[in-house]
Formats: sequence, C-alpha cells, structure tokens
Amino acid sequence: MRVYNFSAGPSTMPLEVLKEVQKDFLDFNNTGMSITEMSHRSKPFMEVNDTANALLRELLNISDDYAVLFVQGGASQQFAAVPLNLMTSGVADYIVTGNFAGKAQQEGAKYGTANIVASSKDKNFTYIPDVDKIKFTDGADYVHITSNNTIFGTRYTKLPKTSAPIVADMSSSILSEQINVNDYGLIYAGAQKNIAPSGVTIVIVRKDLLGKEKSFCPTMLSYAVQAKNDSLYNTPPCFSIYVAMLVFKHLKNLGGVKAIQEINQYKAKLLYDFIDNSSLFTNNVNKADRSLMNVPFVTPSAELDAKFIKEATENGLASLKGHKLVGGMRASIYNAMPIEGVKALIEFMKKFELENK
Ligand code: PMP
Repeated sequence: MRVYNFSAGPSTMPLEVLKEVQKDFLDFNNTGMSITEMSHRSKPFMEVNDTANALLRELLNISDDYAVLFVQGGASQQFAAVPLNLMTSGVADYIVTGNFAGKAQQEGAKYGTANIVASSKDKNFTYIPDVDKIKFTDGADYVHITSNNTIFGTRYTKLPKTSAPIVADMSSSILSEQINVNDYGLIYAGAQKNIAPSGVTIVIVRKDLLGKEKSFCPTMLSYAVQAKNDSLYNTPPCFSIYVAMLVFKHLKNLGGVKAIQEINQYKAKLLYDFIDNSSLFTNNVNKADRSLMNVPFVTPSAELDAKFIKEATENGLASLKGHKLVGGMRASIYNAMPIEGVKALIEFMKKFELENK
C-alpha cells in the first residue's frame, strides 16, 4: 500500500510519473534497453536532455539570456560553485535565514568576504528579515538568499532591492509558485523535492555572469564549461534527468506553475487554518513568512509529539518527524502531495487532538 509521504526530501513523486517510469523501465521508447543502460551521448538520451531543458524553460518562462544547466553534487555543491564562479571582486552578501543559508555563507567565506547582511537566527529562524531594511555592501558580487527554508518553514514573499545579482537557493520551492526569472542572476535547486529523484541539480544562470570563474575553479564546477557542453561535459545523472523530464511534462499538463501554485496555496491554507484553530497543535512561524512547502508544528510536549508521529505512521501518514534543529513535526507538502494527503493528515490531527486533550 502506498502511504502519504510527507518527507522533506527525497520526497513524494506524482504517481502517474512513477507508473510511467515503471512502464518504460525495461524498454525505453522501443530502444530495447532501459534509460539507465544507454549512453548519455546516444540520440534517445540527448533528446531527453534537450526536452527536459526546453520544458523547464517553458514552465518558468526562461529567456535566452539564461543558461539552464543540469549538474551534480546537490545544492550543497552550489554553495561552493556560486562563489567560485561569481565572486569576482571577492565580496558577496548573504542573508542567513536557516541552516542551509548558513552553510552557503560559510562555504562562500572560503573564497572571499561573505558578509552576513541580515539573519533571523535571533528567533531560531522563524521569520524572514525585512529585506527593505537591509544595508547591502556596495559593489558586492551577488546577494545570496534561500527562497524557502526547508527546516524552519519560512519563505520569502518579496525580494531584496539591490543592484547586485540575486542568487537564490530554491531547492525546496522551485516550480511551486510563479517567479520572474529575470529578477535573479542565478537560481539553483536540488531536484529531490519538487522535481525528481536526487542526482540532478538545476542551475539557471544569466549568461553575462558566465566565464568569470576563479582560475582554480574545478572544471566540473564551471558554469561556462557546463553551458558550453549542454550539461554533457561528463556523464550526467541520466535517470534523474529523465524523471525530471517526465515531471516537467506532468506539470505542464496540469496547467503549469500557475495551476500548481493555486493548488499549493489551497493545501497550505487548509493545514495552517487547521493548526491555527487547534487547541493542541501550533506553528510558531511568522504568519506572513510561512512556507507553502514545509509546515513545522508541535504539540505542547515532546512525548506527545513522539506519540503523534508513531500513530500517524501507523495510519499511513509517513515521514512527519521534524528536523532535529526544530523538533516536533514537519509536513512537507510539495507539488506532488495530493490535496487528499493534506486532508487525511488534518483528519488524523483532529482525531488525535480529541483523544489527547
Ligand atoms: N538548500 C535547501 C533549502 C535544502 O532544503 C537542502 C536539502 N534539504 C539543501 C540546500 C541541501 O541540498 P543537497 O542535499 O541537494 O545538497
């Protein structure tokens, strides 16, 4: 039996896509071989690579001013790739809104001055600093933000106004709501939440930022090299790219990012409204900054949290344990989480609340 899987990543996938993968797994497009068995230079795979790229461009309305790269190493590798490629004058600004934002800043500091221009650490990352009040560094090479904070359940609803290019880690929010790619210098995201199995990392980079990497930048981390080679400089994560292509097609058929955004807003509102009216469960994130994707919540005690997680798991509601930095529970309700899954969670929470008053 399939369960409703609230994992923060790798996370639940659209069932239709999984079935398609299953159907085509042994014989992809009448080639007589699995997608996992063929050369990345073969025509069928090159078509997959090109189609995935074109579909992502279409879904996010990405202009020719940007290169779309499929790379490896996860978002964590981008914490280094970004400064290696973009920190040309040696200074960049970072807004630290969580664990991963902090890691990105620490990695940046290995290659130059990585200023923390704002942080929400004072309140355990339960809010996003007011971007209009931030003083950015003159001449900074970029301003790094984490659009959605997976562990703490916050998201930016407004971008900083700065002349430096904005670099955004969108690992846990890419394709969940409409964005204007032209507002960014670079966007990166690991696939394993809203897109595909882990393995591929998406990079969308403005072309005028290419080719300025540090002399010691590893070849594999050079955006210019990846762009010049259509992300096929070496063997790419073929299977992840293939599944990403299927997810992009699936999302397009659903009506694209606008349509999924409406569904995501609906799902998140159902859950937050329930929590806000509950006498047992609370979410302590600043309301205006609440994530549409990751919803942390607690009961009044760690014992009750553990009981909730145990009983929820027994009832087909999986992977609800919160991250260790926050404790309690976290429901990750990415694009592929059906509305029924959120409703099932709420019904279970209602029952648990009655039984544990
Ligand atoms: N950034 C964010 C916002 C994340 O949620 C994660 C992973 N949960 C990472 C970065 C690290 O990603 P990866 O494991 O792909 O390196």
